[in-house]
Amino acid sequence: MVAEQKPVTVAVIGGGYAGMAAAVELAACGVAVTVFESAKQLGGRARAVHYNDTGLDNGQHLLLGCYRETLRLIELVGGDIEQDFLRLPLQLDLHGQFSLKAPRLPAPFHLLVALLKACGLTWNERIRAARFMLALRRMKFRLSREMTVAELLVKYGQDADLTFKLWEPLCIAALNTPIRKASAQVLLNVLRDSLNRKRADSDMLLPRINFTALFPQRAAAFVEQNGGKVCIACGVEAIIPQEDRIELLTSQGTHSFSHVICAVPPVVAGKMLATIAALESSAAQIRNLEHQPIYTVYLQYPNHVTLPHAMIGLHQHFSQWLFDKGRIASQHGLLAAVISAEGIHQRLGQEVLAQKVIAELQEAFGIADTPQWFKVIAEKRATFCCSPGLQRPSQQTQLSNLLLAGDYTAGDYPATLEGAVLSGLRCARLVLAARK
Ligand SMILES: Cc1cc2nc3c(=O)[nH]c(=O)nc-3n(C[C@H](O)[C@H](O)[C@H](O)COP(=O)(O)OP(=O)(O)OC[C@H]3O[C@@H](n4cnc5c(N)ncnc54)[C@H](O)[C@@H]3O)c2cc1C
Repeated sequence: MVAEQKPVTVAVIGGGYAGMAAAVELAACGVAVTVFESAKQLGGRARAVHYNDTGLDNGQHLLLGCYRETLRLIELVGGDIEQDFLRLPLQLDLHGQFSLKAPRLPAPFHLLVALLKACGLTWNERIRAARFMLALRRMKFRLSREMTVAELLVKYGQDADLTFKLWEPLCIAALNTPIRKASAQVLLNVLRDSLNRKRADSDMLLPRINFTALFPQRAAAFVEQNGGKVCIACGVEAIIPQEDRIELLTSQGTHSFSHVICAVPPVVAGKMLATIAALESSAAQIRNLEHQPIYTVYLQYPNHVTLPHAMIGLHQHFSQWLFDKGRIASQHGLLAAVISAEGIHQRLGQEVLAQKVIAELQEAFGIADTPQWFKVIAEKRATFCCSPGLQRPSQQTQLSNLLLAGDYTAGDYPATLEGAVLSGLRCARLVLAARK
């Protein structure tokens, strides 16, 4: 005899990648799920922005081939990975200073050969970098004690030049945290998954469509087709636990559910949970998280302006990575300069920062045209600061029917789309397990 499943009704608060991943997983398993999103559109920190009749994102994002669950869910809700993304085999190009390109060899040989053939390093530095990778592999990418990335690099004899050209840009791109503050173990988790298994895991995927369209919007259609509801511009004002149910207070009234997955950004989660006495320890943990910014400077040049590659870095400039949206998404003449993690750029006004980027583009690539417009998007709390030994709140809370999803919750990954999606899936599976 098959045991009857207990009926569950689930609310997901927040329609970012974590919340929508949870909602899709539940809807796919036949659970009635309602998503409440406070903004007018879905996507959260990975969302579409419209400016001057041009489609932008709140920041240029990049996915890695090893982001298996994010890519799986995009396909589940109707996306097509090869059409939705420009796929580039692992390559790092710091214009005129350093370049590395992985050959078509199985992992990890693709990386070792890439390191040994990298331009801009001495022969000695290339050998040290390759030896470092082999040592990490022998350690199964696991450290016996936590340390910063800067400490790890010193321990393994990576000199200043190698650090500035290779490891620092990689660490900032992966963890959005400067090497002196970044967790070596979390960086190793990313290296383990991206560089060590299949060659395609290290592919870099640049979306051709905006981040709301890529997953959250399709996910909403999937949830609704499977009997769920997605309420946009309907923020949750309070979470009120009641015996074995939870009430949510929104501008449209009070709603009651058997389970709630709270997938709002950490600053909002900290405030929401602070009003629930049983959750004070989770709320305190969340409030202790520090944050790091990401600035994106979009510049619309005349259509003929291009960069040498879809993605190219500048060594020790304000513009850390530049993206040519013409090459990526046929948005000709549109360039995006990304400035990750804390730095002196935060002290500059937006006009001054944009002028610095324009000057760098002129100096590095001879772009003499003046952009028709620019738009600086400063995400001051883009990610949590991924420091060593950080205590991240678990998805499970003191209340068995209230779960936490979001890139900041416990997990192997730094604040990334994959980290967010994995947390959402974990919450959904905990709810599914509770039906038995
Ligand atoms: C500029 C930038 C660049 C980035 N680049 C990359 C990258 O290249 N690769 C990568 O993997 N990651 C990148 N990230 C990180 C990635 O975007 C985040 O890790 C991920 O989007 C977080 O998703 P989330 O669902 O956990 O949170 P969020 O996206 O913050 O979603 C939370 C949602 O909750 C909603 N909400 C808030 N309050 C309420 C309320 N009261 N009621 C209902 N809803 C509410 C918000 O509006 C939001 O939609 C980048 C982030 C930024 C900001």
